[in-house]
Amino acid sequence: MEYYSRQISRLIQELSALPGIGAKTAQRLAFHILNMSEEAVQALSASIIEAKQNVCYCRECYTLTDEELCPICKDSARDHKVIMVVENTRDLAAYEKTGKYEGVYHVLHGAISPMLGIGPNDIRLKELMQRLAKEVDEVIIATNSSLEGETTAMYVSKLIKPTGIRVTRIASGVPVGGDLEYIDEVTLLRALEGRREL
Ligand code: ZN
Repeated sequence: MEYYSRQISRLIQELSALPGIGAKTAQRLAFHILNMSEEAVQALSASIIEAKQNVCYCRECYTLTDEELCPICKDSARDHKVIMVVENTRDLAAYEKTGKYEGVYHVLHGAISPMLGIGPNDIRLKELMQRLAKEVDEVIIATNSSLEGETTAMYVSKLIKPTGIRVTRIASGVPVGGDLEYIDEVTLLRALEGRREL
């Protein structure tokens, strides 16, 4: 990349550090940014910095939000007695896009993976158990169908079982190892409707 000046190279380098951005895409984005108006670039960089500074975890469900309580937890029209457990905020968004789920969520921020050294204490499991002290009718486990997701589902269900709260798992049909966010809404809805008791 020596044929680019130092600042252009730096921009390309920063962009190519992002997930899914290869060297070619990074170059294309860098030149696109350099061609943008000064205001547009300011708006882009301000949105990155402000999001980073203000985004925190929802006090209730631990999704990423910029308020103490996220809009879903704040919504009294939703069924707060049904909690869907997902691995991350992107998975939550995937279910929200179906527009059919009326309960609330709990975001674990990861999944148990003995191989990667991620244990139950490294995800927001304790926080989930604390929520179950309130009145809860059902916990729907919607972790991915990857090895980690299944391990987490089993662990969570064993933990909840003694409380007597109904525990269900979304139906398979969600491709193995497939990130929930890449699955179409119809498949997600079918998985949700076909959930079974654990
Ligand atoms: Zn929330």
